[in-house]
This record gives sequence, C-alpha cells and structure tokens, in this order.
Amino acid sequence: MNVLVLNCGSSSAKFAVIDASTGAEAITGIAQRLGTAHATLDWKHDGKKHSRDLHHADHAVALREMVELLRDARLVEGLAGVGHRVVHGGAKFSGSMPITEEVEAKIRECIPLGPLHNPPNLEGITISRELFPHLPQVAVFDTAFHQTMPSRAYLYAVPYEWFEKHEVRRYGFHGTSHRYVSGVAVERLHLDPANHALVTCHLGNGCSLAAVENGRSMDTTMGLTPLDGVVMGTRSGSIDPSIVSHMKKALHRSAEDVMDALNRKSGLLGISGLSNDMRTLQEAADAGHERAALAIDKFCHSVAKAAAGMVVSLGRLDALVFTGGIGENAVQVRGRIVELLGFLGLRLDPAANAVHGRGQDGRITLPGGPQAIVTPTNEELMIAIDTAAIIAGGARSAA
Ligand code: ADP
Repeated sequence: MNVLVLNCGSSSAKFAVIDASTGAEAITGIAQRLGTAHATLDWKHDGKKHSRDLHHADHAVALREMVELLRDARLVEGLAGVGHRVVHGGAKFSGSMPITEEVEAKIRECIPLGPLHNPPNLEGITISRELFPHLPQVAVFDTAFHQTMPSRAYLYAVPYEWFEKHEVRRYGFHGTSHRYVSGVAVERLHLDPANHALVTCHLGNGCSLAAVENGRSMDTTMGLTPLDGVVMGTRSGSIDPSIVSHMKKALHRSAEDVMDALNRKSGLLGISGLSNDMRTLQEAADAGHERAALAIDKFCHSVAKAAAGMVVSLGRLDALVFTGGIGENAVQVRGRIVELLGFLGLRLDPAANAVHGRGQDGRITLPGGPQAIVTPTNEELMIAIDTAAIIAGGARSAA
C-alpha cells in the first residue's frame, strides 16, 4: 500500500511515497527555505537526484509542485492515504489518529506546547486535504509513544498546579524513532517482545534517549520541549534553571534572548565555539582543537549519564540502541559511550564498532552482558506503516 508521508516544518516540507509493506521509497524529496528568494525543491526518483528553484514559494506552492512530480511519476493514482508527522500531541494522543475535525482541533489546542512545530504541521494537513480531498489523512505524533511513562517519570517537581492547570510535564519527542528502532532491536537480538528492557539513543542534531520496556516508553530525556535532556547540536539539554535569570541580568537581555541562546547557540556549538556538526568537531579535535575535543567529551559524558539514568527507570538492561546521524556513524563517540557504561556489563567490540556492527546484526559489543547495537532509524516508514494500518482496519498504532 503506497502512502504519501509529509513532514512540514516552519520553512521546509519533506515528502516521500513509501510502500508500507515493503518499505520501498518510490520518490523522496524536500522543499527548503520556503518563504525566501532561495526556496528550492530537491527530489530523488528512479535512483536519480533532481533540483529546482522555487523562488519565494510558500508551503502551498511547494506542495502543489510536489503533486506535479507525483503525477509525472504516475504515483498519485496508487496513493492510499497521507501520513503527517505532527510534533506535539500533548497528553491528548497516545497513538496515531485518522485526522477528523475533532483531531485537528486537538492538534490546534497543542499549539502553546509546540508553537514552532504544530502550526506548520497543521498547514501541511490543510493543504494536503485540499490537494487530496478523497484520501484519508493520518496524524503520527512525536510525543505519542511516550504517553505510557509513569507519573514519576513525566512529572517535574514543580508546584502541582503547573501540571494541572498549565500542562507542565515531560512529554518527550522522537517517539516515532524510538518506537521504530526498539522494534528493530527486539527482532535483531531475538528478544521476547513481551519481556525486554532497552535504552534507545537517538543522536542526531537533536538528541534524546528513551527507556523502553516491553515495547512501551517508561522514561525519556526530552521534556515539555525538545530543549530538555542531553547535550545536542545547538541545544544545551538540561541545565540549572537559575542560569536563565542569572544570564538575563548579566547580559541585560530578555528571557527570550537567553532561551534563544540555549536553543541555538549552546550544545556542541556552544562549547566548541566552532560547529554543531559532529563530523566537523571530530576532524577539528583530531587536529588539536581543544574545545572541539571538550565538546565531544561533554557530549559522551552527558549521553552515558542519561543512559544510566534510563536504566534506573527500567530496573535492568538488555540492550543499548544507537541511531540518528551521530548514533549511526560516529564510531569514536559510540565507543566512548559504551566504555563509560562498562560498569553495567557492556563490553565494546572495537572491530564491530568500527564498521557500525554491519555483518553481525548491528551488534558492537562482545557476547555476555547487555548488548549495544547500531540501527538506522526510519521515521518515514513508521509513519507509512501507521497510516496504512489505520486505513486498512482502523487499527491504531500501539503507543
Ligand atoms: P537531524 O537530527 O537533523 O535529522 P541527523 O540525524 O542527520 O540530524 O544527524 C546529524 C549529525 O550526525 C551531525 O552532527 C553530523 O555531524 C553527524 N554525523 C553524520 N555522519 C557522521 C559521521 N560519519 N561521523 C560522525 N558524525 C556524523
């Protein structure tokens, strides 16, 4: 069953037509820098890459162009539905949902929680409904997978009224990725679907970890927003909240300015003063750049410390799962994290780690004790699978 997967961000729109049963991608593409003079559309079809200027196109224009590409590739007729990535579902959604007026209204109610993401997600839904009025539309939420967390994991120790009246709690993100890679890990390591304990590490530009017990999220590092948790490309991760008022006074700036620095000028970029990109930092560190090395050291420490914390939420550990651009590719970073977690019984296999576990089901640890594995994530496929399942039988994705 072919599904169109749409991921609309504030200035971009990613799309893919995916066969939900085989995972085959008939076409993939991204429109970027929307709303600017430099808007472009890049796509891949039949193994070839293409690119086109979109001059000042907005989301509506870009998605109309996308439909033309799908028509040229004769993919429109075979589409069974459209699956939308929606970032914030608050506490309102614990699984993927067919988009009805009521569901759309609830997504809108979550805008205060996801002010940067939910409006473009909703715009994508509106445009897609106009473009494909006869196709079912499905919403797949980044937050839904984490709705199974117990209250001790999702509550912040702040006045309880903040939770009751203002929805202040940990929601967690990257849920589609954590769900996908935990499923792959269970399969690859021949674990019991009803009895396993995994720590999944999604390490990309944004980074988060999840504690997954028997297919259910028990804890995660991101919180009310994706700023919480481990050190990321440009985000600080968890810090002492007093830093905000301290720096507000020290710099004579607004709280918003300080928050902006925590979101966009911190993390690997903040410490290194050089880049948010792990590849660049590794090259610089190898060439003797001290703060690049310091940023990488802090990153590994932060992820390993959080992983150990996730084990507390599980009570045991079968496997650590690495995914995302850093998790899938950064050999030294992965190796260091596994070594830091050696006290849990993980023993790095350096040769397997050097080739990302290829040839042995992704495993990068020696037998005996908990395992660590590397597996690419595929959020688009997960969205396609959920969408197809809902279309086929109203079966909602398990949270
Ligand atoms: P996003 O979260 O934006 O989807 P990705 O999952 O693509 O990002 O991850 C981007 C990160 O992965 C960057 O820090 C990049 O440097 C890192 N990365 C990608 N390839 C490699 C590599 N070969 N070695 C080290 N880091 C890598």
